[in-house]
Amino acid sequence: MLLSDQQVSLIVQIDQLLPQTQCGLCGHRDGCLPYAKSISEGEAANKCVPGGQPVADALAQLLDRPRLIAESSVWDIQADGRPQQMKAIIREDECIGCTKCISACPVDAIIGSGKLMHTILTDLCTGCELCIPPCPVDCIDLVPDNNPIPTEDQRINEQDNLRQRYYAHIQREEKRRIDRKGPVVRAEIDTEFFAQFSQALKNVPTITLAEKAKDHSAQDAKTTIELAKIRTQIKKLEKQLSVRLDPQKQEQLDALQTQLKELQEV
Ligand code: SF4
Ligand code: SF4
Ligand code: SF4
Repeated sequence: MLLSDQQVSLIVQIDQLLPQTQCGLCGHRDGCLPYAKSISEGEAANKCVPGGQPVADALAQLLDRPRLIAESSVWDIQADGRPQQMKAIIREDECIGCTKCISACPVDAIIGSGKLMHTILTDLCTGCELCIPPCPVDCIDLVPDNNPIPTEDQRINEQDNLRQRYYAHIQREEKRRIDRKGPVVRAEIDTEFFAQFSQALKNVPTITLAEKAKDHSAQDAKTTIELAKIRTQIKKLEKQLSVRLDPQKQEQLDALQTQLKELQEV
C-alpha cells in the first residue's frame, strides 16, 4: 500500500530516533523502519530494547504522547540510560567458514568467504545478535563494548551509517535471491516497503525490486533466518521471564513458540 507524503514524513521522523540496530526486539522482524511505521499508526513507542528509556522518551515527546517505561533489556543500563552496548566476536579458530552469519548481519559487519575463517568488523557491529543463532558451530560470542558512550552527534552519524548499510544489505540480498548463491539464511524482507522509503530519503542507497525474486517469497519466509530470529526472541523473553514474571511477555513467548513449531513442521 502506498503511503501519503505526510505518513512518510512522520515515519521518517520516528525512524530518525530509532537506533538502527535492526535487531527485531521490538517485535518487528524487518527492523526499525517497520516499527516506526507501526508507531505512526498507534503502536506503543516504548518497545525499542536497545534504545531504552531515552528513545522511549524522545518518541513520546515527538508524538506528544504520555511517557511510558521502556521495554527492559537483559543488559545493565549504561550512563546514558541505554542498555549496555554489546559487540559480537567470532572464535576464529572454531569457524568453519559456512558463511551463514554474513547474510544474517543486517549491517554487513562480517567479512569472509566460503570455507574460510570469518571476522567481525567490530566498529560496525551493533551487537544485534542476529548472527548467533544461524552459526552451526556456535562460535560467536557477545562481549561488552568498552568504547566511550557516543555524543549525540556521533550517535546520529552512526545511526545514519547503519541505516545506509541496512538498505545496501537489503538490496544485495534482494539481488542474491534471484540466483540463490550461497546459503539462504535471510528471511523475506518487505523489500517493497523499504524501496518506497529509499526513494523518499536522500542519504540511503536506492532499492530496486528484482522481479524474479518475488516468485520465491512464500518459500523464503520459512528460511533459516526467520527461525533464527524467532529463536533469538524466545531466548530473550525466556531470560526476561526468568527474572520477572510478566503475563504479556509470557503470552508473546507462547505465540512465538507456536510460530516456531509451525515453521519447523513445514
Ligand atoms: S533497534 Fe531493534 S528494537 Fe529498536 S526499533 Fe530497531 S529493530 Fe526495533
Ligand atoms: S556481527 Fe552479528 S551482532 Fe554484530 S551487527 Fe552483525 S549480526 Fe549483529
Ligand atoms: S556462521 Fe559461524 S561457522 Fe559459519 S562462517 Fe559464520 S562464524 Fe563461521
